[in-house]
Amino acid sequence: MSIQILPPDVANQIAAGEVVERPASVVKELIENSIDAGATDIRVEVREGGQRLIRVQDNGCGILAADTGALFHRHATSKISRAEDLNRLTTLGFRGEALASIGSVAHVSLLTRSASEDAGSVVRVAAGLSIASEPRGAPPGTTVTVEHLFANVPARLKFLKSATTEAGHILQIVTRYALAYPELRLSLLSDGKLIFQSTGSGKLYDVLVKAYGLEMARQMLPLETGQADEGGDAGPAEQYLNQLPTSVVVTGYIGAPALNRSNRSYITLFVNRRWFQDTSLAYGVIQAYHTMLPVGRYPVALIFIEMDPADVDANVHPAKAEVRFREGNRVFGALQRTVRRTLTDHAPIPQMPGGDSPGSLNVRQPSWDELAAWSARHDVLLAAGSGHNPLNHHSDGADNGLPGSSQSPALGAPAQPDPEAAGAAPSPDLPLSAPNMIGRKVPLLRVVGQLGAMYIVAEGPDGMYMIDQHAAHERILYEMLFTDHARQRLVIQPLLEPLVLDLSPEQASVVGGALATLAEWGLEIEPFGGGSYLLRSLPAVLNTQNPHSAAAEIIDGLAQGLDVVGGTLEARLVTLICKRAAIKGGQVLSLLEMQAMVRQLEECASPRTCPHGRPTMIHVSAGELARQFGRI
Ligand code: ADP
Ligand code: MG
Repeated sequence: MSIQILPPDVANQIAAGEVVERPASVVKELIENSIDAGATDIRVEVREGGQRLIRVQDNGCGILAADTGALFHRHATSKISRAEDLNRLTTLGFRGEALASIGSVAHVSLLTRSASEDAGSVVRVAAGLSIASEPRGAPPGTTVTVEHLFANVPARLKFLKSATTEAGHILQIVTRYALAYPELRLSLLSDGKLIFQSTGSGKLYDVLVKAYGLEMARQMLPLETGQADEGGDAGPAEQYLNQLPTSVVVTGYIGAPALNRSNRSYITLFVNRRWFQDTSLAYGVIQAYHTMLPVGRYPVALIFIEMDPADVDANVHPAKAEVRFREGNRVFGALQRTVRRTLTDHAPIPQMPGGDSPGSLNVRQPSWDELAAWSARHDVLLAAGSGHNPLNHHSDGADNGLPGSSQSPALGAPAQPDPEAAGAAPSPDLPLSAPNMIGRKVPLLRVVGQLGAMYIVAEGPDGMYMIDQHAAHERILYEMLFTDHARQRLVIQPLLEPLVLDLSPEQASVVGGALATLAEWGLEIEPFGGGSYLLRSLPAVLNTQNPHSAAAEIIDGLAQGLDVVGGTLEARLVTLICKRAAIKGGQVLSLLEMQAMVRQLEECASPRTCPHGRPTMIHVSAGELARQFGRI
């Protein structure tokens, strides 16, 4: 066949194939046009999942009668005029393709009136053939009606899913724009039923409630947008997530760790209010939850990135579903830093089921007065608790309150820990004033006792806290190891005699590729021929352990590679070391040991979850206790 230029109707259908994949794509393009037209009220109506009918009505600027003739031509647009304009897009549309594409695969009628004209016009197009443009009375704004979608494209028709599924995709699109434009009133009517409506209040939270439901919205944290405070109160593990100051502003909401999903589709990204997909940024969000989410679970996040449009290229994907950033790393860094900071500052302590708002943000924060009163009571109770001054661990300022590596096994030993071993002189006058407590991630706690050799029961300013001793100790060790490592003070325990490890090929390949990292964290291992390796040292936190089984467990864990969501090799390794070194459930602890542990946990940057993302503590509020006992 000789080469020929395809006639316009064929070319348009080809282009439509890229833009109009399913009914939801039509809805998307029409809503974008309405938003670009400055509408404040957009009504979407569909029938049979959009296949029978899609109608989008807006109160935007409308179209001048003189312009209606060109509407359904390809590259007919009022939004850009020069190639340079593509470098600074401020409208959602810009290619002038949508109406032409939709018109080539459906019957379309467009009724419009510009506010500046008395009469409106109607334009009809069927399968690419423009029928007519004629005057017609109309309110200001534009209504586009699309019928018989894909009637002339059997291939597309075949791939359409059930009406319910297609309506679901449409709902997703409508919801997305409602979230991006909370000042818009946006509604969706499907087969005569109103299935979504935003109020146009301008408040993102209001749309969030409409889109996700109150239960879910309550478990979401508003992102904190402050300027980058490098390091600051970020924990040692946080500083690990590299951060750069940028002019990229990130806002939105993220789910508390307890709100998680089995896939990453609940991570929604917008840049300058344009929805887009980006695997790498989604991964950045997941990584920011590092150690806070259980394995195989993904966060819920709604992220708005605001930045100079000149730094974003929206013209890289046929359906404009992807963008390219000029400096992707800056965006990644800003996003991850914001998410992480919000999480470490605000993730709530899980509430006992039965509380009125499980895992939610509606946990009443104790007032300043209550905190002050609690602080005084706490000090007295602590001092009364034992002959020793129980604050000695707390006062170890030089060491961030965490014991040196060589001392931490004292926690695990059943004997009473020697107060001197904690490395601090008693400081009876350490003030624990209320202002001290306000920035805390967990409140000051008074240990009441141990339950089932597994949980520490403690009292706080608002009720009871139960701490999982193993999870808490894992968290303490995890942060301690990172601190020690950063200060190059990690204590390594050489073995008296090297141990021979016989590794499976899989284990050997993991170990072989990680010798330097392993050594840096105290596991000095060298090849000894074949699958054999020599173990020469262990991190000192493991020095009460059987070295052979400790090393085997850690190497096994590394080879499985599943221990932490989105973890680096190092983070995984440290998590495994901590898991092994931490005291186990079933171990009876003395009051002093429990107090030491609680103090250390209070000092942690992320005290509420263990490095695997499970909670370290649960809270039963005083109110909940009173309710359960029928006092209120
Ligand atoms: P683009 O949005 O890329 O410009 P479209 O094919 O979607 O291309 O629309 C072509 C033109 O039609 C737009 O540039 C705009 O001028 C006009 N238009 C389309 N829909 C509307 C609307 N709802 N209100 C006002 N003008 C509209
Ligand atoms: Mg458009």
